Amino acid sequence: MTFTLAIVGRPNVGKSTLFNRLVGKRLALVDDQPGVTRDLREGDARLMDMRFTVIDTAGLEEVTDDSLQGRMRRLTERAVDMADVCLFLIDGRVGVTPTDKVFADILRRKRAQVILGVNKAEGKAGEAGALEAWELGLGEPLRISAEHGEGMEDIYHVLRPIAEQFAERAALDAPEVDVDIPEDSEDEGAAPLITAAKPLQIAIIGRPNAGKSTLVNKILGEDRMLTGPEAGITRDAISVKSEWMGTHVRIWDTAGMRKKAKVVEKLEKLSVADGLRAVRFAEVVVVLLDADIPFETQDLRIADFAETEGRAVVVAVNKWDLEEDKQEKLAELKEMFERLLPQLRGAPLVTISAKTGRGMDRLHTAILKAHEVWNRRIPTAKLNQWLGAMTEAHPPPAPGGHRIKLRYITQAKTRPPGFVVKCSRPDELPESYKRYLVNGLRADFDMPGTPIRIFLRGQG
Ligand code: GDP
Ligand code: GDP
Repeated sequence: MTFTLAIVGRPNVGKSTLFNRLVGKRLALVDDQPGVTRDLREGDARLMDMRFTVIDTAGLEEVTDDSLQGRMRRLTERAVDMADVCLFLIDGRVGVTPTDKVFADILRRKRAQVILGVNKAEGKAGEAGALEAWELGLGEPLRISAEHGEGMEDIYHVLRPIAEQFAERAALDAPEVDVDIPEDSEDEGAAPLITAAKPLQIAIIGRPNAGKSTLVNKILGEDRMLTGPEAGITRDAISVKSEWMGTHVRIWDTAGMRKKAKVVEKLEKLSVADGLRAVRFAEVVVVLLDADIPFETQDLRIADFAETEGRAVVVAVNKWDLEEDKQEKLAELKEMFERLLPQLRGAPLVTISAKTGRGMDRLHTAILKAHEVWNRRIPTAKLNQWLGAMTEAHPPPAPGGHRIKLRYITQAKTRPPGFVVKCSRPDELPESYKRYLVNGLRADFDMPGTPIRIFLRGQG
């Protein structure tokens, strides 16, 4: 099973050219198949050692401007629905156009996984277009030339982990029923973050005996757990879907869960490495601590890994029922948290008892909030207003007598939030100033529990 890539973008940016390059002669025209629009072409793509399906929305060439919006939108949305990942092309020689922005909005609303390609960028052309492309807020633009085959390695490297992840997920998901995506979605509003088809992906990780399986049991309900819905699967990470307080969730397994599912194979080896794997699949990572022995080396390593991987993090302190002086203990934990995990500043710390169920509602709320923040997008105007105030309150340093100027900020990505700051001499801006900006963003835009990335870019 392979993944599907949709090439989307306004007419004339080079979609067909890229499609043809990826597919070569292995083209499967889908025109005549019932139910499939003639506007979409599908083919078997090959990129180095990677195979996948590619769909192209090239039928748009003849579309006139007035019908563009509706038709283009529907076609693109359909392609996006069919795809696992989208390659959004713009023309690097033209730069970002208003129509490109319409596409960017569609992709954002659909919450598609997007690779942004700046085409026609052979030679020096497209440099300005690539810089401008950051404004689309869809992550790092890749400079490519469909016609000359440049930048194909970059596409490969971005697709590679997606391909691997997809292959693993496909294997894991196999027993479950596919969800039908409506042919013609008219949904104009923001797509909901969590649905039955897109459950909130949670990993609960922590040292042995922290109470992971007890907690997972609490969330999923004892029965489901013991029947071990995916007990036959002996891969290194397994997952279970459920509804938890009205939220569709998928919990990624760690050792404790498997123990209860009676899949005992290799149990003794399932430790940190196993938890770390689960992190890769998760959107929100719950770091579960034992109140009695919190923040041990292993906990710190796991939490740090979750941050490095860019996951939303909630720290849950378990076995709170056993604590006698709760006030004093909480203060102590907060102090330790600040000191030992400064990179997770602001992440929620929730005290729970997996055994009695106390604090489950607070944990649920904290997880949803962390997930929402992780997906949050802040308007550019607000960000720039904020940047002005930040640099005024505390101007950047002036190495060699010339002050570094921060000119512009925009949010380039979500999950986790990432921001591009255009500035003079990005290499000379000290880490401490970056931290000042990150902490400021966190505080001023209320973003607890998520890593925040800042990318500095020169003027170009
Ligand atoms: P589509 O409408 O998005 O499918 O665009 P096409 O693939 O039909 O390409 C539109 C035009 O751009 C054609 O004239 C292509 O030859 C040209 N084109 C496509 N890719 C490149 C490229 O990488 N560099 C340059 N210079 N031209 C390109
Ligand atoms: P895992 O290894 O992380 O999956 O941990 P388990 O869920 O197997 O729990 C380890 C031990 O801690 C078991 O004896 C549980 O009954 C106990 N335990 C788990 N959660 C709590 C809790 O909230 N309070 C108390 N008192 N004991 C708990």
